[in-house]
Amino acid sequence: AKALGRNTLCYFAPDMLATVTANAAVGIALREGLREKQFVVHYQPQVNLQGLVTGVEALVRWNHPEKGLVMPAAFIPVAEDTGLILPLGMWVLETACEQLVAWADSAETANLSIAVNVSAYQFRHPNFVDMVMSAIKRTGIRPQGLKLELTESLLADRMEITIQKMGMLKDLGVTLALDDFGVGYSSLSCLKRLPLDQLKIDKDFVADVLTDPNDAAISRAIIALAQSLNLQVVAEGVETQEQRDFLANQGCDQFQGYLFAPALPLEALELLLRKPLAD
Ligand code: C2E
Ligand code: CA
Ligand code: CA
Ligand code: CA
Repeated sequence: AKALGRNTLCYFAPDMLATVTANAAVGIALREGLREKQFVVHYQPQVNLQGLVTGVEALVRWNHPEKGLVMPAAFIPVAEDTGLILPLGMWVLETACEQLVAWADSAETANLSIAVNVSAYQFRHPNFVDMVMSAIKRTGIRPQGLKLELTESLLADRMEITIQKMGMLKDLGVTLALDDFGVGYSSLSCLKRLPLDQLKIDKDFVADVLTDPNDAAISRAIIALAQSLNLQVVAEGVETQEQRDFLANQGCDQFQGYLFAPALPLEALELLLRKPLAD
């Protein structure tokens, strides 16, 4: 671990250089996949305490001509390594904006939000804020409908720049969530300086929330922290009613997970939106 000074040391990256190995073959295939438009966005509902869908998370899949549907764990790290996450991430963002426009016409979908994952690599790009702004302008969406999910690893960067960029995004009107919260080590002093709207509890904590006292304590602490900072809390990876009830009793507002629905192709999601999900 290296000390970067009192205000910048908020997070230790766990051996990133050692674990990220470029996969040249995947990189070449990715580039071709982008050109051939082989990517699709699936949407996973986020539900409130009443079991109503308030929004969805956009999760990218690769519809590979030979391998079939490839999950992001198999290609997002390579996309980040090769810089291809920039065009891929922009494509996901634009697709989400276009979907918000398509949903704006109908009363049952007009208020849904779409959450888009943003890699640290994308966020760090000097034109990131401009690219988000152009996507909003070009599509004419209400910016509140767009939620950007940022990760804790950004807090390893210079805080001043991170805070400034997040402020510019807030000025555009978008919603900001901190994803996978609890996995890294962001301190309370970091967190309270960020213009966030939402914290997402990582599914690793949710998975064992009923059986592992440590995970229960962490979830409780995250929810209490969020409440004290006036942030909404979304629990991801909620698979059972018992997990949902435990988290709801702790004060969690929103839930995402297989208990409600997995990430779905657009048509399947739209069918499901016509009826409320069990709470
Ligand atoms: P994430 O942002 O933490 O997304 C949640 C992951 O948990 C998704 O996996 C989702 O399908 C899965 N999940 C949802 N409910 C449950 C559940 O009840 N139980 C379990 N065990 N898992 C559940 P997915 O779709 O494979 O995505 C994996 C990761 O890939 C995402 O994790 C995100 O970090 C990344 N990713 C996906 N799409 C994008 C994208 O467009 N851009 C970027 N930069 N990253 C993306
Ligand atoms: Ca996410
Ligand atoms: Ca996660
Ligand atoms: Ca555990």
